[in-house]
Formats: sequence, structure tokens, C-alpha cells
Amino acid sequence: MGRLKYINNEVSEVCQNERLQGDKVELVLQSGERLTSDLLIDASGRAHLAAKAIGLNASPYYSHCYGERFENHTTNTEMCCFLGPSKRFGSGGGWYYSIGNDKASFGYAKVTRSPDYPKKELKDNYYRALKEFSPYSKILSDSTPVRAEMGSIPIVPIKNFAQHRVMIVGDAAGQATIWSCMGSETALVNGNLSGKIAIKAYKKQDFSKNVLQEYQREWNKINKKNYQKAAMIAGAMWFQDERVWDEQILIMSKFSPQQMLERMRYNAHTGNIIWFFVALARNKIGAIKKAIF
Ligand SMILES: Cc1cc2nc3c(=O)[nH]c(=O)nc-3n(C[C@H](O)[C@H](O)[C@H](O)COP(=O)(O)OP(=O)(O)OC[C@H]3O[C@@H](n4cnc5c(N)ncnc54)[C@H](O)[C@@H]3O)c2cc1C
Repeated sequence: MGRLKYINNEVSEVCQNERLQGDKVELVLQSGERLTSDLLIDASGRAHLAAKAIGLNASPYYSHCYGERFENHTTNTEMCCFLGPSKRFGSGGGWYYSIGNDKASFGYAKVTRSPDYPKKELKDNYYRALKEFSPYSKILSDSTPVRAEMGSIPIVPIKNFAQHRVMIVGDAAGQATIWSCMGSETALVNGNLSGKIAIKAYKKQDFSKNVLQEYQREWNKINKKNYQKAAMIAGAMWFQDERVWDEQILIMSKFSPQQMLERMRYNAHTGNIIWFFVALARNKIGAIKKAIF
């Protein structure tokens, strides 16, 4: 292996000879410089650089988040809250957690099928939550907002993370959890995994899909079932109002901290997903009754 070189530049194109079937991968940088490599690990987030170049479908949903960091957050709370989707504040759910040192983070998200969403609507939703969503509105009222946090998280994984000479990780692969849109841990864990497979490929001097596919297989072992189950209901799950989530809270309120972590990380302890459809149906029947009577 050659010496390590760090280059800070923007990639304007991932080039491929015959859909990346060539004997090198080539990146064109904004500076005009061209880089060639035996192997590319793409971690370009929602830009999906390699997936687009190869012609893979990107994620079907995006969670557009808007929130703020607060200082002087003197309310004594160690809470970390995952907030359910809401028609008033955002179909993507939200978050509140204190970070220590009198700091906190609060925000809301909207899930849509498009990679972009108007910033103004996100901000309006967020400020509505900050003003109206009790108890967060109250516990943040003494704090000073210091900076906004904003971005879009692709959700639902792309079809295959491992291609000829290419591995795709993190948000670029849609690896954030579909059920809670958490992508930091998955990006780190899968970055590590793809790195290990890259070392094997370099040792064998074989960068074919066949060798790199081990990355996908390892991911599948741990995640495939959970993600498939969540992907099946993602369209219904993200577009409900609060009543469906009230049903979930009843179940989750009985979880131990360990079970809650397992739920957030692996979508565990969901029971039979039929309960979800029952709640959904009840919700719809309620809406129909309301419209008729
Ligand atoms: C407001 C907000 C709050 C969040 N909160 C949480 C949370 O509490 N917990 C959690 O787990 N996840 C959270 N997430 C999601 C999490 O941040 C992402 O899932 C995670 O950062 C994905 O990491 P990544 O490295 O795959 O992609 P990114 O962090 O998106 O990194 C991609 C990088 O690629 C670079 N890039 C893109 N295109 C190019 C190009 N053409 N050339 C060169 N570089 C390029 C980008 O500049 C960026 O630096 C949050 C996201 C947002 C927006």
C-alpha cells in the first residue's frame, strides 16, 4: 500500500469505465485534479456520489431536520427524548436532550420523498414546537439558542453497498435507522466494517464485487431483517398523527433502559407489527367518523 495522503477538496464527478467495471476508480475534483484508486469508499452522505454514478436508486425517503443548540440550560434534566411524528411539528419526529455543561439540543424533522424541503417550513414547524410542545417549551424557556442545526438524512438503505471497486457507507448508503433516523453510529460502525473489508481486498489485490460483497453480507447478518421490517411500514409510519404514537408510548413506557436502547438501535421489542396496523386502522376510522358526523 502507498503512503497516506489527505486531500481536502470537493468531488465533482465519480468516473467510471463501463459502469465502474474498469481497473481503477477515478474522481474528478473541483480543482480539476483527477485521482485514481483501486478502491473507493464513498461516505458522501445525501450527495450519494457513487450510487448516482453507478445508477443505483437513492433512498426513497429523507428526514429533513431543523433544531437549535441551547446554552444556559439551567433546568436540571438528564432527559434524552425521542419525540414522535406529529402533523403539527413534523412527520419525522423530533429530539430533546441535554448535553451537560448547561447545554441542550432540541429539534423537529419532516419526512418526505424528496431530498430537499423548504427551510422556511422546517423552521416554522420547529418554532411551533418550541412554543407549543410541552414540557420542552417550558424547560427551554430559560435557555439561550446559540446556533441552528439543519440537514437531511436519507432513510431506507440503497440496494447494494458493495459494487466492483466501490463500497458505500453511512448516509450515502441510507444506513440511518429507518425507525429513528439515527445515522451517526451506523456511519461509524459501517465505516469501520468497510475499512476491514478494504484491508482484505488490498491483501488479495482483488477489488471485485465478489470480495467486497462480504461488507454487505456482514451488514445483512445484523441488520437486514430489522430494516426490511421497518421499510415495509415506513410509508405508513412517517405520515401519522399523534394518536398512533400514543399507542406506541404505552408499550414503550414499560421498557427497561436496555430495551429502549435495543429498540432505538435495532428496532427490537416491536412485538407483532399487527398492533401498528390496528392503531393505524383505528386512526383512519376515527378520521372517517369525524368527517362523516
Ligand atoms: C440536525 C441533525 C440532527 C441529527 N441528530 C442525530 C442524532 O442525534 N443521532 C444520530 O445518530 N444521528 C443524527 N443525525 C444524523 C447524522 O448526523 C447522520 O446520519 C450522519 O452524520 C451520517 O454520517 P455520514 O458520514 O454518513 O454523512 P455526513 O455526515 O452527511 O457526511 C458526508 C460528508 O460528505 C461531504 N460531501 C458531500 N458531497 C461531497 C463532494 N461532492 N465532495 C466532497 N465531499 C462531499 C459532506 O460535505 C459531508 O462532510 C442528525 C442529522 C441532522 C441533520
